[in-house]
Amino acid sequence: MEESLKKADRLAAVGELAARIAHEIRNPLASISGAVQLIANGTAIEENDKKLFDIILRETDRLNLLIRDFLGYARPTRPNLRQINLALLIGEIQALVGTDSRFASVRVENEIDNDLVVEVDPDQIRQVFWNLLVNAAEAMPAGGRVIIDATRMEELRSGESVSRTVKVAVTDNGSGMSPENVAQVFEPFFSTKGGGTGLGLATVYRIIEAHCGRITVESSLGKGTSFIIFLPEHQAIGLPPVREVM
Ligand code: ADP
Ligand code: MG
Repeated sequence: MEESLKKADRLAAVGELAARIAHEIRNPLASISGAVQLIANGTAIEENDKKLFDIILRETDRLNLLIRDFLGYARPTRPNLRQINLALLIGEIQALVGTDSRFASVRVENEIDNDLVVEVDPDQIRQVFWNLLVNAAEAMPAGGRVIIDATRMEELRSGESVSRTVKVAVTDNGSGMSPENVAQVFEPFFSTKGGGTGLGLATVYRIIEAHCGRITVESSLGKGTSFIIFLPEHQAIGLPPVREVM
């Protein structure tokens, strides 16, 4: 017990440090890309040099993305719980989808009952659905549809106490995944995409865990993928401590 506590402390300290370093990388990175942009715009430069500047800018963009995702993953915050109407929250995300070019040929359908209320951190759960929807869109380059549906389940616990759980499924008809890939999707840095950070689903997993929920995935190559989330309708007093990573 004592050993595992020490290990948890150590892991927490390393997670803190990693998040600090990520922060410290951000500022010089912004200076670099700003300076390069000025040089590239200012003087008459040769075509060949222009290509090199473009490489620097593309790579600094990529580092920025990686650091942003990494900070979200390495520095989890305790959920700030509120009673949230699930259909409304998903509706907000649908509005965001409408303004993003990745969803140009993707239809997102919201099939959630108006009366489903969950006790969650709205910012964190918005992030969960956003990450799932972006992945769905990226799995359907030629277009397709995503359905988000939810139901309330009653689970009988130890004798007479009943706990209510809300089950939300996000289902796409995209590329699907092989069983080998399904087994790794929640691993940090697992990505099959050229520019992917592989931190989207790892972050989703952590957030759901911090809400005392569960997430599972079902997928079939060539047919599509379904992510299924179980969230307690009410959180018990005292959530589990946020598990630190690294
Ligand atoms: P990233 O999107 O940066 O690659 P994620 O953690 O969001 O990282 O996803 C990890 C990997 O899981 C993706 O690279 C992809 O191979 C797979 N994946 C996730 N969602 C889907 C989906 N809806 N359909 C097919 N594959 C998916
Ligand atoms: Mg992703």
